[in-house]
Amino acid sequence: MCTLCQHYCKIKEGKTGICGVNKNVGDKIECLVYGYPSALNVDPIEKKPLYHFLPGSKSLSLGTVGCNFHCSFCQNWTISQTANIDKSQYFSPEQIVELAIDHECESISYTYNEPTIFYPYARDIALEAKKRGLKNVYVSNGYESHEVIDDMKDVIDAANIDLKSFDPKYYQKALGGNLEKILNNLKHFVQEDIWIEITTLIVPTQNDSEEELDKIASFIANELGKDVPWHITAFHPDYKELELPSTSIETLKMAYDIGKKHGLHHVYIGNVSYDTPTRCPSCDAVLIERTYFRQTSNHLNGAKCGQCGTTIAGVFDEQS
Ligand code: SF4
Repeated sequence: MCTLCQHYCKIKEGKTGICGVNKNVGDKIECLVYGYPSALNVDPIEKKPLYHFLPGSKSLSLGTVGCNFHCSFCQNWTISQTANIDKSQYFSPEQIVELAIDHECESISYTYNEPTIFYPYARDIALEAKKRGLKNVYVSNGYESHEVIDDMKDVIDAANIDLKSFDPKYYQKALGGNLEKILNNLKHFVQEDIWIEITTLIVPTQNDSEEELDKIASFIANELGKDVPWHITAFHPDYKELELPSTSIETLKMAYDIGKKHGLHHVYIGNVSYDTPTRCPSCDAVLIERTYFRQTSNHLNGAKCGQCGTTIAGVFDEQS
């Protein structure tokens, strides 16, 4: 049995599990994508999106092929929905960390496809990165096994986790996941003291009702905490959902208002040219402004509001 994600696939010898990249090779499960990133870029940390974790810093970002979900609207489907591994170039964990240092990155992000399915590789990179003073960031659909989250607490510093819907049937049928397990995992991340931010991609007709957004915002506020940022991002037609329209600004603003109604301190609209700054939850001063994932101003004093001195939730450089 593979114990990397909540599918806990029982894999016959010579076969792979649901993700297509973890294989039973007889005496163990082998992660076939170990050492073979399919994408490797230097991104602003804001692109993950993480707005309260080392803002303004660069993150070496990598993903492999494969995924444990099969979302019809996936915006990275060319790598997530294939198991064809390009083995033309091997990157050891040490080489990845060297690349990050060479490109002045403060962190390494495991992203683009679902990092849980390549956790053995991500973990080895992350441990090497820690030795060299770098942080580690995880961008995930939230379907990790309990074992992986337990392990992550000493390895991963921050995570952006999707909460794609609040409808159990939708999670099961359309995405191939389980809502209850994801909600429990989100609470598990908070218990382990890993900094998390939540993302909901708002897909027209699928998860954009007021009622559903209300449930999502209520869960974040009441079960995770009002300091946990909520990113509400716009869908653009992609993969198998080419007939659906892009998410309207009106819908995004409705979600924003719902988040604020539930008392969330930090709600962000993303994937559109409409930037929502970070504001102080006490005095409402604008603290960080951004344009297209790039920080354009920062009025924080370390982790405190530059105006009233309130401590802002997140992980900030002392000098930021
Ligand atoms: S990572 Fe998840 S989907 Fe892939 S084989 Fe393991 S349990 Fe199955």
